[in-house]
Amino acid sequence: MEEVRVRFAPSPTGYLHIGGLRTALYNYLFARHNNGKFVLRIEDTDRTRYVEGAIENLIEALNWAGIEYDEGVFLEDGKIVQRGPYGPYIQSERLDIYKKYVDELIEKGHAYYCFCSKERLDKVREEQKIKGLIPKYDGFCRNLSIEEAKKRIANGEEYVVRLKLPHNKDIQFHDLVRGDIVINTDDMDDQVLLKSDGYPTYHLAVVVDDHLMKITHIIRGEEWLPSTPKHVYLYEVFGWEKPTYVHLPTVLNKDRKKLSKRHGDVAVEDFRAKGYLPEGLVNYLALVGWSPESNEEIFDMEGLIKEFSFDRVAKTGGIFDKDKLDWVNAHH
Ligand code: GLU
Repeated sequence: MEEVRVRFAPSPTGYLHIGGLRTALYNYLFARHNNGKFVLRIEDTDRTRYVEGAIENLIEALNWAGIEYDEGVFLEDGKIVQRGPYGPYIQSERLDIYKKYVDELIEKGHAYYCFCSKERLDKVREEQKIKGLIPKYDGFCRNLSIEEAKKRIANGEEYVVRLKLPHNKDIQFHDLVRGDIVINTDDMDDQVLLKSDGYPTYHLAVVVDDHLMKITHIIRGEEWLPSTPKHVYLYEVFGWEKPTYVHLPTVLNKDRKKLSKRHGDVAVEDFRAKGYLPEGLVNYLALVGWSPESNEEIFDMEGLIKEFSFDRVAKTGGIFDKDKLDWVNAHH
């Protein structure tokens, strides 16, 4: 059987959120349960959200929690180093790789240059909204020839590259938690793949990297479920084998709202500062959205690795209950 390879791919935008730690934990448990490999990749292509020091914070939080990985980005004597056969693992160091795949998509007619200004796009969206339509790109640049586009680029015009979705095609995939999903391309947008600053968008970078890094299972929060059809379509046009998708239910507070700073601590480092034991936090988080076969509630990492499987991951949000966390923590 093919070796299981999973990844945690945070964006360095600040601290590690409790929900992010749970995603990392499920990846880790699944990898260890299957004797697979776990990769830490840093997704820093949105330069407007980049926070200095965030990569170090993320790694320290994972180290503290005892979540070990095999490849990717590590801290050694306070310095960021990268290890593994498929690096670099920091996306901003992979721009020429993305460029190559964007060019391939353009050549094959699956992507196109777009020169529309922000003003024009805003106006189009406004008009669509007034008509009660879901705003999306109107395809103004879809049929520009590559030659014409290259002339405009040579003249210094700013551009992005967009995915050229076919009309009325069903995109299908299976999610281990959510089941079969089908979306029609007419309900999707010609997603930007390459931005005007030369950086790829998340959607292009994630597909290229997951493929090149041989990722077999994509385990991430369900907020990425709506993006998945775009990714699946990219796998199809590149002719690459699709990974298995696993979208995890959101971590909610007791009012069933998304866990956010307004409702108390959400950063792993806040819990660390308050003296929670990493074993307690990890044990509790494993149970937020997943239930073991037995009624057992107290687990060490080895026990979690042994028990973990996706068929017991919940379909609906997991409640993060501070009192329950305190109870679990007290048992470690
Ligand atoms: N960079 C994304 C994040 O910050 C990762 C999404 C994914 O795992 O595909 O959550």
